[in-house]
Amino acid sequence: MQDCIFCKIAAGEIPAKVVYENENVIAFHDIKPVAPVHVLIVPKRHVSDVISLASDDERAALMQAVLQAVPIVAEKMGVADKGFRLINNCGTEGGQTVMHLHFHMIGGRDLGEKLL
Ligand code: 5GP
Ligand code: ZN
Repeated sequence: MQDCIFCKIAAGEIPAKVVYENENVIAFHDIKPVAPVHVLIVPKRHVSDVISLASDDERAALMQAVLQAVPIVAEKMGVADKGFRLINNCGTEGGQTVMHLHFHMIGGRDLGEKLL
């Protein structure tokens, strides 16, 4: 999609520190990390959020692609054994600022039990 920053990163038009990539998914370091490990796992196809994922089977399959990337990225980032948090912000009140579906993998330190 035009003017979508993550579509541009997926297309290689904007640089990013890529951790892992396959046909369907790209994972790269967040530009403003909140923890020692902060990677965004992003389906290459433009889907705005988790709500629109459910609208058809082809989009829903993107979730499978994201989930399959999780252990690979976790292993590469050294958090597969220690653990991490996987976060999706959805919509304005959910704190989503980039309207292209993505999941934050955050870790590399003790994140505690509380979400907020
Ligand atoms: P959201 O708030 O939508 O859940 O998360 C968007 C994330 O994308 C933020 O953590 C922000 O730092 C990150 N981000 C925004 N623009 C860029 C960019 O151009 N490159 C990278 N690597 N991360 C970005
Ligand atoms: Zn996009």
